Amino acid sequence: MNLKPLDILTVTENKKTFVIAGPCSAESLEQTLNTAKELELQGVKIFRAGLWKPRTKPGSFEGVGKKGIEWLQKVKESTGMLIATEVANEIHVKEAIKGGVDILWIGARTTANPFAVQEIADELKIQLKSTNKKNRAITVLIKNPVNLDLDLWIGAIERVSNAGIKEIGAIHRGFSTYEKGLFRNLPHWHIPIELKRRIPQLTILCDPSHIGGKRELIHLISQQALDMGFSGLMIESHIDPTNALSDKDQQITPESLKNIIDQLVIRKITDTSESLKELRREIDEVDERFLDLLSQRMAISREIGRYKKEKNIPVLQPIRYDHLVTNRIAQAAELMVDKDFIKQVLEAIHEESVRQQLEIFKSTPKNSLKGTK
Ligand code: PEP
Ligand code: MN
Repeated sequence: MNLKPLDILTVTENKKTFVIAGPCSAESLEQTLNTAKELELQGVKIFRAGLWKPRTKPGSFEGVGKKGIEWLQKVKESTGMLIATEVANEIHVKEAIKGGVDILWIGARTTANPFAVQEIADELKIQLKSTNKKNRAITVLIKNPVNLDLDLWIGAIERVSNAGIKEIGAIHRGFSTYEKGLFRNLPHWHIPIELKRRIPQLTILCDPSHIGGKRELIHLISQQALDMGFSGLMIESHIDPTNALSDKDQQITPESLKNIIDQLVIRKITDTSESLKELRREIDEVDERFLDLLSQRMAISREIGRYKKEKNIPVLQPIRYDHLVTNRIAQAAELMVDKDFIKQVLEAIHEESVRQQLEIFKSTPKNSLKGTK
């Protein structure tokens, strides 16, 4: 593949301009422009805003569409930032390029659909001819597909590359799961890392907003991404996040964005060996899965708490607990895990489950209990 590195989106030790930021969706001229101006003051150089929004269910805000292009143009005129938006079909590509959008991105749901990606690639090839004449490059960022399929992701990159686009980047935004745990979309870091191994010249960014789904996780995920050698970040930022029309739980104000960027530790090209890095990455991934499972376990435990409360059963069930500990210790022995250690872990988990169930017993008013008087 003939790719150029995306220098503007590559972190270096003294440079903190590797972030694309802006609202999930452009909602009004005022919201778009005010967010952009604040971001520009915080040093952001590339502004993102979705105009055509792929929503899980009908009836949610589906974006303002074509009319938002003018708002993005105003952002460019008044701040000098580059502008970026999502495209999902041929018409979007046409409108965006005609409107002077600098960076197009293909969203996770679109990457999963080869027909849609091919349609976009065909239109990019046509548009490239006219932009080449004007000496203008088209940059395309390709998010991972919603499902865990590296070949599908690479396939989309190849389709865009075959259209003649050289400025291509990939964005890791996590993968959908049925069970909802700590993350909105599970990171599975080994997938983008394998992508980089297979296409070393590809610039890879991380989108902590869609991985985390909550503002509190953005700093943590961004730091992890930088630690793993990602080049840059795409972060959703809104002037008034709590009133955003889409993805409000994960958007942050431009000021919080600045704080996060300032706190990020940009690693030197360190002297730690590749194999140590690889092992650490594996540990991070196991810990993430572990945290996710723990959070699922606590959710089930709370559900049991509600059931016990409704049926007027006491929280503590000594026989059940005894069985659980005995069985798990036997399993642990088979897996070569120390039995005293596992006992301590189980006790800590059990203690927390009991605490959470007791909270449920305390919180629901007595008179809402069925069958108790
Ligand atoms: C977005 O960036 O707002 C978006 C819709 O992202 P994704 O395709 O990752 O869900
Ligand atoms: Mn979004």
